[in-house]
Amino acid sequence: MRALCYHGKGDIRCDTVPEPKIEDPRDAIIKITACAICGSDLHLMDGYQPTMESGDIMGHENMGEVVEVGSEVRNLKKGDRVVVPFVIACGECFFCQKKLFAACERTNPNAEMARKAMGHSPAGLFGFSHMLGGYSGGQAEYLRVPHADVGPIKVPDGLSDEQVLFLSDIFPTGYMAADRAIRHGTAVRPQHWRRVRRMPWPCRSGPLHSAGRGWGVQACQSPSVVIA
Ligand SMILES: [Zn+2]
Ligand SMILES: [Zn+2]
Repeated sequence: MRALCYHGKGDIRCDTVPEPKIEDPRDAIIKITACAICGSDLHLMDGYQPTMESGDIMGHENMGEVVEVGSEVRNLKKGDRVVVPFVIACGECFFCQKKLFAACERTNPNAEMARKAMGHSPAGLFGFSHMLGGYSGGQAEYLRVPHADVGPIKVPDGLSDEQVLFLSDIFPTGYMAADRAIRHGTAVRPQHWRRVRRMPWPCRSGPLHSAGRGWGVQACQSPSVVIA
């Protein structure tokens, strides 16, 4: 398949790579139909994220159609359309049981490396360095989704990819930051976002946090966000 791969600072190439396979009974394989480029992908491209390796597949804001599921994935079937959260969560550990999925203790096999660098390891993340799990991303034709019985959000009929893609990361991340940092009725201006950006990683990485909740953030045309 074709995939966008990291090859060093400023060097992202469209390579031919092997297609992913089911490696665990809780995996699913999806055919990517949309994948956003995140601002944080630019940090990878600019060489700010340690432990990226040549050939790593980029992309953590993914959605697509399920083409194969492992034997233990009972909530998804071939043909389902899903948005896949950035965060890979086991659904069972101490933090997952408290719905703090971004701090999952089981999905980053290189947690010790991340703990030394950041003080605490987050969950494993798609396409975001070996320190954060070394999982391939979805700027590719196909993606392996570990723990597919926990993360993916089924897309109801009638909604386009463009209407739901941002649930993979940027919308719930922004929502959670706003939810934690801003009082209702407050207009937020760009200078406030500096404070939000300084929040610790598990607070910023909010995908899954908002799944199933009503949306309360209205992004305005002006450079501010108001909590409705
Ligand atoms: Zn992102
Ligand atoms: Zn967990």
